[in-house]
Amino acid sequence: MKEFSTFGTSGYQVSDLQMLRNSDDDAAVARLLAHCPIMLLDAGEAITESNRARLYILLRGALSVASDTRTGMADGTVSKILPGESVGEQSVLDEEANLSSITALEESEVLVIEADLVWQLIDESNVLARNLLRLLSFRIRAANAQLRRRQKLGEFYRQLSMIDGLTGLYNRAWLNDLLPTMVATAHGSNAPLALIMIDLDHFKKFNDTHGHLAGDEALRAAAQVLSGALRPTDFAVRYGGEEMMVLLPDTSDKVAVAVAERLCERMRQAKVFADMRQPLPHITASLGVAVLRPQQNEHDLIAAADAALYRAKELGRDQVAA
Ligand code: GH3
Ligand code: MG
Ligand code: MG
Repeated sequence: MKEFSTFGTSGYQVSDLQMLRNSDDDAAVARLLAHCPIMLLDAGEAITESNRARLYILLRGALSVASDTRTGMADGTVSKILPGESVGEQSVLDEEANLSSITALEESEVLVIEADLVWQLIDESNVLARNLLRLLSFRIRAANAQLRRRQKLGEFYRQLSMIDGLTGLYNRAWLNDLLPTMVATAHGSNAPLALIMIDLDHFKKFNDTHGHLAGDEALRAAAQVLSGALRPTDFAVRYGGEEMMVLLPDTSDKVAVAVAERLCERMRQAKVFADMRQPLPHITASLGVAVLRPQQNEHDLIAAADAALYRAKELGRDQVAA
């Protein structure tokens, strides 16, 4: 980066500078800018930042500005600056060093205005203050829009990490996150919370007989039975392996057992393959039902449903126990 000339001797006009356009008194502004250096940057050359706050206005060429990577807001945003546009106004206003990295995309001429002079310009010509405000409000809007996009993206990935990839049901992470809240809500509102634990029968044998891929299909079919049979307020979770769980807020023992019976029947009827040329393996499940008791926490509730499931297995599988 070398000093090339000054604004006064360069032949550029105040009207070439967007930031100072429409000033009432171009001559006064030109006088203030007369001694400001103009730097020449080769293509690919970066502005070697002093620790001083400065305003850079591009006169010719093009600059790339990569957003600050040290503020914790790093987002890899790169914007392109065209002649007349500026960089660094914020650092001048808050008197912090400019932390973004500025590189010339082609041979460029850059007018450098030290912070002191920017303030003098603000004092003497309200056009700069007005344009600065306009520019800053534009940048704030853009930053806010980006923040919202990033929040949405974060929420999307959070949701994604709570869903089981094979079945599309909620996963264990979701359960760990949500079940304590559901239990607290149930205790707080005195509404019953029912939990059905579901385990596919002889699933090891199913895999051995039909292959692991068919086993995966069967798991998907079982998950579909669950999600297809529930109310919008109910939740289906893949608890692990071939164990699934259904959570039924505001549901009594009696109703939960009826729901479990219905699920058991639909499992029996589920088609693992729609393709009729395939042999039609079928699945059955054992289901254990429990309802949250006073003083119970989420672990107690799961243990109670597990115990009921064990009884259903003992009684011969393909059935419901409570
Ligand atoms: P039980 O009737 O007593 O429940 O017998 P089971 O064979 O179902 O129980 P066990 O726990 O012995 O075996 C569970 C099987 O589930 C073994 C495992 O390979 C299979 N399994 C678990 N996760 C998956 C999966 O994601 N895909 C497939 N294909 N199989 C799975
Ligand atoms: Mg099991
Ligand atoms: Mg099993």
